[in-house]
Amino acid sequence: MLQREIPPVDVVGGWLLRMNGSGVAPAESGGMLGYCERWPEQALRLGYWEGKPVAVVVEADGDDWPGFRDWLAQVSVAQSELLATALQVTRWERDHRFCGRCGNATRRLTHEFAMQCDHCGLRGYPRISPCIITLVTHGKDMLLARSPRFPPQRYSTLAGFIEPGEAVEAAVRREVMEEVGVDVGRVSFFKSQSWPFPHSLMMGFFAEAASRRIRIDGEEIVDAAWFSPETLPQLPPVYSISRQLIETHRGAVAVR
Ligand SMILES: [Zn+2]
Repeated sequence: MLQREIPPVDVVGGWLLRMNGSGVAPAESGGMLGYCERWPEQALRLGYWEGKPVAVVVEADGDDWPGFRDWLAQVSVAQSELLATALQVTRWERDHRFCGRCGNATRRLTHEFAMQCDHCGLRGYPRISPCIITLVTHGKDMLLARSPRFPPQRYSTLAGFIEPGEAVEAAVRREVMEEVGVDVGRVSFFKSQSWPFPHSLMMGFFAEAASRRIRIDGEEIVDAAWFSPETLPQLPPVYSISRQLIETHRGAVAVR
């Protein structure tokens, strides 16, 4: 797993993750990480992996490397966290080269993920956007919905961003009401997962519906329905927290 301590600047080599705007270069081993005695100049130090320093470098687009989601589908949970970190930190550094308060150039601090404005003193950190993702249940049944962005036939759990000033549980109830018009009773936390597209932190919940009547909003959601564990539609990939919510519920209600 990624040890979250940034190697000092005199550390100049170790594991290297090479990525571009769409994917990650396969290393000689076939995995994501290659070993490199001397990192390229623009490499960004991330931490330590298996006791050795690890960095990421962003190269120009052009090479047709396997996409980020392809990698997430095949790597371990620990490696997916490393990839999520690399993606979010590199994009944040690219997008925060100037101070959002006074407009002067910022500089990257070397001992933590932070951009410092020496003109006004503002310090910026990588943005993480908390989201709720929830499986609404009624007995054995699961409420799944389709966003217009989904591949054809796919259904998933409900999700949405937490608003400024809002409690997480309140966001669960609000999103479910807004998207499918259902009141929920008990809400219980499942687990969380970083989702680096571009910088979400998905917090997974089970929510028990107080009634079955669905009223979709027609914009964020184009269809929603109750499904029994025996008649599920096409689902999101197994590495997604959405799928894990569904499989966990399915396991819990299976006839013993
Ligand atoms: Zn400033």
